[in-house]
Amino acid sequence: MKNIRSLEKDEIKSYFESIEEKSFRSKQLYKWLWQKLVGTFDELSDFSKRLREELKVTFYIKYPDIVQKQVSKDGTIKYLLKLEDGSTVETVWIPDGKRKTICVSTQVGCAMGCKFCYTGRQGLKRDLKFYEIADQVSVIKRDLGISPTNIVMMGMGEPLQNIDNVLKAIDILNDEIGFGIAARKITVSTAGWLPGFDKLIDYPKQIKLAVSLNAPNNEIRDEIMPVNKRYKIEDLLSAVRHYIDVKKKRVTFEYVLIKGVNDSKEDADKLIALTNDIECKINLIPLNVAVDDKDSPFDSIEDGRVKQFEKWMMRGKRTVTVRKSKGRDINAACGELKRYEIDTKNIIIK
Ligand code: SAH
Ligand code: SF4
Repeated sequence: MKNIRSLEKDEIKSYFESIEEKSFRSKQLYKWLWQKLVGTFDELSDFSKRLREELKVTFYIKYPDIVQKQVSKDGTIKYLLKLEDGSTVETVWIPDGKRKTICVSTQVGCAMGCKFCYTGRQGLKRDLKFYEIADQVSVIKRDLGISPTNIVMMGMGEPLQNIDNVLKAIDILNDEIGFGIAARKITVSTAGWLPGFDKLIDYPKQIKLAVSLNAPNNEIRDEIMPVNKRYKIEDLLSAVRHYIDVKKKRVTFEYVLIKGVNDSKEDADKLIALTNDIECKINLIPLNVAVDDKDSPFDSIEDGRVKQFEKWMMRGKRTVTVRKSKGRDINAACGELKRYEIDTKNIIIK
């Protein structure tokens, strides 16, 4: 028996061929699975009873389980989801007026080991399969009965290290017989895993790219982002320039502001110099320190300092914004997501 949600479009097609069914069945089934998000085969009302029974012999329908759901004062909801192999990931629903964003994870944990990121401190357990990435959206849509308007791949994991599954998931999210979310409303965020860039560039859809720069020079970046020891800022920026040349789309640089590490005037000057000739927007993210974290290697940064840094940055050519942190009270903000081991009685942080 196999979870039917794990089938790719051409696998669905081959299945129907193998049982000598008409080819239009593939599109019908895909719609049931990814647009209507059915829970049982009996809901497939345009399939004959015989065909529904036949499907049940080979397949079952299974979504990730909601193990925990935490609601923030600001409306953000953090879900802890359990996958079929028992692995867990966190996914976040972020309502902001008309915009409803889902922040999805792309890996169980993350191998990049960024010093300021809770996911990074846990290491990588495994890549997510394409349908496990897309099904984080399915679960929330089924739970809340509301469709998201935007998707950000900014949860756990480095999307470019799992680029094949990420792009297949985006196909489903964007598909008009899937979730129907416009490509420009889907953002992939990377710490700069350069081997994934080519596939992203070749991908024909106009999705958005965010690059977590987080430092104005190699010295600081080496210190807080181990990936920089392998791919230096210069290499990252030439990959970004190439991306912009080919895609004709501007990118967003994310810059996590860490007190005493990368928040000086000199850092702002260097950051301006690095980015002034690149078609980009700069998004400052004040470091989030989890509410229950007594041993964080970094302190949180004061609002006044963030405003000061923003002012310094405004002397450059590029648009600068400061990210509103949502879901702080439930540790659902950027970089705060964790992986858990599920015990039959307790949830243990891993
Ligand atoms: N791995 C990808 C996407 C997930 S992280 C990446 O690094 O881009 C999403 C964003 O959260 C990144 O910009 C990252 O720099 C930021 N981030 C990580 N830890 C954070 C923290 N503790 N506070 C604020 N932002 C953080
Ligand atoms: Fe991984 Fe991104 Fe966290 Fe770095 S910031 S450890 S790349 S999830």
